[in-house]
Amino acid sequence: MSARAGDESGGALVDGRGCLTPAGFAALSRAPVGRAPDTLAAHVAACPRCQERMLAGGAARAARAPTRKPRLWLGLALAFGALLLALVALVLATRLH
Ligand SMILES: [Zn+2]
Repeated sequence: MSARAGDESGGALVDGRGCLTPAGFAALSRAPVGRAPDTLAAHVAACPRCQERMLAGGAARAARAPTRKPRLWLGLALAFGALLLALVALVLATRLH
Protein backbone atom coordinates (compact mmCIF):
# COMPACT_ATOMS: atom_id res chain seq x y z
CA MET A 1 0.00 0.00 0.00
CA SER A 2 1.51 3.27 -1.04
CA ALA A 3 -0.25 5.86 1.04
CA ARG A 4 -0.26 8.95 -1.10
CA ALA A 5 -1.14 12.07 0.78
CA GLY A 6 -4.47 13.45 -0.38
CA ASP A 7 -4.60 16.89 -1.88
CA GLU A 8 -7.21 18.36 0.41
CA SER A 9 -7.81 16.27 3.51
CA GLY A 10 -4.30 15.01 4.14
CA GLY A 11 -5.34 11.33 4.22
CA ALA A 12 -5.11 8.64 1.55
CA LEU A 13 -8.46 9.14 -0.13
CA VAL A 14 -7.66 7.04 -3.21
CA ASP A 15 -5.81 3.76 -3.61
CA GLY A 16 -3.18 2.82 -6.18
CA ARG A 17 -5.77 2.36 -8.94
CA GLY A 18 -7.22 5.79 -8.32
CA CYS A 19 -10.36 4.35 -6.73
CA LEU A 20 -11.69 5.77 -3.50
CA THR A 21 -10.67 4.21 -0.21
CA PRO A 22 -13.09 4.03 2.74
CA ALA A 23 -11.52 7.31 3.88
CA GLY A 24 -12.29 8.76 0.45
CA PHE A 25 -15.92 7.69 0.69
CA ALA A 26 -16.10 9.14 4.18
CA ALA A 27 -14.69 12.44 2.92
CA LEU A 28 -17.27 12.48 0.12
CA SER A 29 -20.19 11.71 2.42
CA ARG A 30 -19.01 14.24 4.99
CA ALA A 31 -18.61 17.04 2.49
CA PRO A 32 -21.65 19.30 2.10
CA VAL A 33 -23.54 19.04 -1.19
CA GLY A 34 -21.60 20.84 -3.91
CA ARG A 35 -18.46 21.11 -1.78
CA ALA A 36 -17.14 17.59 -2.19
CA PRO A 37 -13.51 17.39 -3.33
CA ASP A 38 -13.58 17.75 -7.11
CA THR A 39 -11.18 14.90 -7.82
CA LEU A 40 -13.19 12.42 -5.73
CA ALA A 41 -16.56 13.52 -7.09
CA ALA A 42 -15.30 13.41 -10.67
CA HIS A 43 -13.85 9.93 -10.21
CA VAL A 44 -17.02 8.49 -8.67
CA ALA A 45 -19.07 10.06 -11.45
CA ALA A 46 -16.92 8.26 -14.02
CA CYS A 47 -16.21 4.99 -12.19
CA PRO A 48 -19.01 2.38 -12.02
CA ARG A 49 -17.07 0.32 -9.49
CA CYS A 50 -16.88 3.19 -7.02
CA GLN A 51 -20.56 3.98 -7.59
CA GLU A 52 -21.49 0.40 -6.73
CA ARG A 53 -19.25 0.40 -3.69
CA MET A 54 -20.72 3.68 -2.52
CA LEU A 55 -24.28 2.38 -2.87
CA ALA A 56 -23.40 -0.94 -1.23
CA GLY A 57 -21.65 0.78 1.64
CA GLY A 58 -24.56 3.08 2.33
CA ALA A 59 -22.35 6.13 1.97
CA ALA A 60 -24.98 7.68 -0.28
CA ARG A 61 -27.65 7.22 2.36
CA ALA A 62 -25.41 8.73 5.01
CA ALA A 63 -24.81 11.71 2.74
CA ARG A 64 -28.49 12.18 2.00
CA ALA A 65 -29.72 11.87 5.57
CA PRO A 66 -28.73 15.39 6.69
CA THR A 67 -30.25 16.98 3.58
CA ARG A 68 -33.56 15.18 4.07
CA LYS A 69 -34.28 16.60 7.50
CA PRO A 70 -34.80 20.22 6.41
CA ARG A 71 -36.92 19.01 3.51
CA LEU A 72 -39.11 17.06 5.90
CA TRP A 73 -39.56 20.13 8.07
CA LEU A 74 -40.31 22.22 5.01
CA GLY A 75 -42.89 19.67 3.89
CA LEU A 76 -44.52 19.66 7.31
CA ALA A 77 -44.58 23.45 7.43
CA LEU A 78 -46.09 23.61 3.94
CA ALA A 79 -48.73 21.01 4.85
CA PHE A 80 -49.58 22.93 8.03
CA GLY A 81 -49.82 26.19 6.08
CA ALA A 82 -52.09 24.57 3.49
CA LEU A 83 -54.29 23.23 6.28
CA LEU A 84 -54.53 26.69 7.86
CA LEU A 85 -55.39 28.25 4.48
CA ALA A 86 -58.08 25.63 3.93
CA LEU A 87 -59.53 26.35 7.39
CA VAL A 88 -59.52 30.11 6.76
CA ALA A 89 -61.15 29.60 3.36
CA LEU A 90 -63.79 27.41 4.98
CA VAL A 91 -64.52 30.00 7.69
CA LEU A 92 -64.70 32.79 5.10
CA ALA A 93 -66.99 30.72 2.89
CA THR A 94 -69.39 30.00 5.74
CA ARG A 95 -69.42 33.66 6.77
CA LEU A 96 -70.18 34.85 3.26
CA HIS A 97 -73.20 32.60 3.10
ZN1 LIG B 1 -13.15 3.97 -8.88
